[in-house]
Amino acid sequence: MIVVMKPGATREQIAMVCQRLEELGFKAHPIFGQEKTVIGAIGNKRALSSEALVNLPGVERIVPILKPYKLVSKELKDTPTIVRIGGIPVGGRSIVVMAGPCAVEDEEQLFKTAYAVKEAGAQILRGGAFKPRTSPYSFQGLEEEGLRMLARVREETGLPFVTEVLDTRDVPLVAEYADALQIGARNMQNFRLLKEAGATGKPVLLKRGLAATVEEWLLAAEYILDTGNQQVILCERGIRTFETSTRFTLDLAAVAVVKENSHLPVIVDPSHGTGNWRYVLPLARAAIAAGADGLLVEVHPDPAHALCDGPQSLHPETFVRLMDEVTAVAWAVGRGLASSSLSPVVSAAGCKRVGAGLSTHKKETVKVSLRAN
Ligand code: PEP
Ligand code: MN
Repeated sequence: MIVVMKPGATREQIAMVCQRLEELGFKAHPIFGQEKTVIGAIGNKRALSSEALVNLPGVERIVPILKPYKLVSKELKDTPTIVRIGGIPVGGRSIVVMAGPCAVEDEEQLFKTAYAVKEAGAQILRGGAFKPRTSPYSFQGLEEEGLRMLARVREETGLPFVTEVLDTRDVPLVAEYADALQIGARNMQNFRLLKEAGATGKPVLLKRGLAATVEEWLLAAEYILDTGNQQVILCERGIRTFETSTRFTLDLAAVAVVKENSHLPVIVDPSHGTGNWRYVLPLARAAIAAGADGLLVEVHPDPAHALCDGPQSLHPETFVRLMDEVTAVAWAVGRGLASSSLSPVVSAAGCKRVGAGLSTHKKETVKVSLRAN
């Protein structure tokens, strides 16, 4: 249920409605808009007579929220939420690219990748220190040592970083280092983890579960918002279907569905979504055309020898081409690329570079692809 306050309702009136809602057994989530304040009343009590509230001073009307998810819903908040990762806004007009190796392997690999993705125009570094692997015998990540490396690279390059947290026990440690916490596909419905990650107040990148409906995904995000943390970015990364020619089936329709129903930013991960570096560029372009607010892309200086997800990782030179192509699509759909502190891909300059860059990178990419994959 939403309590819509009259324009000009005072802080005291808002506080009084919140207090009344709490007395009635609801959690009150005020959202202060430019013109009006609305208060989300969240609880599992089915019936609440609107008379209990409608006569309170400052209240304009009471509106039910029809969707099962409430706080993430556009019914409650119809302006886009902007999430800030180390000062980089995600969810505004500009597209944000998070890139880096699947797993942090060593300092040289991480520095090389970070400088390469930054030079190409990525604004956020992504690297895993705790890795969820299908086999217990695969590389599981460098854990705290990996987090320390990510922090050193951030210091040198100025790139904020996002990294996965796998377990509630690691939340304080990962939150101490990271600019944003990733909750992976396999943990999308680990409800304790969602709550604890939310409670840190850090931005959370929530990947879609491999077998989750959009509604289940939004309900998972609801757990994080329910902790009082609105800084959530959704990430479509492909779902399991009968199709076997790609690792997963990248569901770009989900981007449109999320945009229709939620105010949260949504980005797309074409690396896990396809599992093959050859398909990453076309799906990255398509994701931006479909309305995604950004991308998460795996990049490795030597994909053939990567300890994790090499076949879907781009060589840095191919990543340059991706950035050029994505910039062109972003401009075509009325958006640009967010700038990082050193980024060469900014506004008008970026636009010029697109035209200049495409053919040059094409030749290089063919060469690199043969060598790297
Ligand atoms: C990853 O981002 O490297 C990862 C393991 O992703 P997902 O949870 O989407 O499989
Ligand atoms: Mn990966």
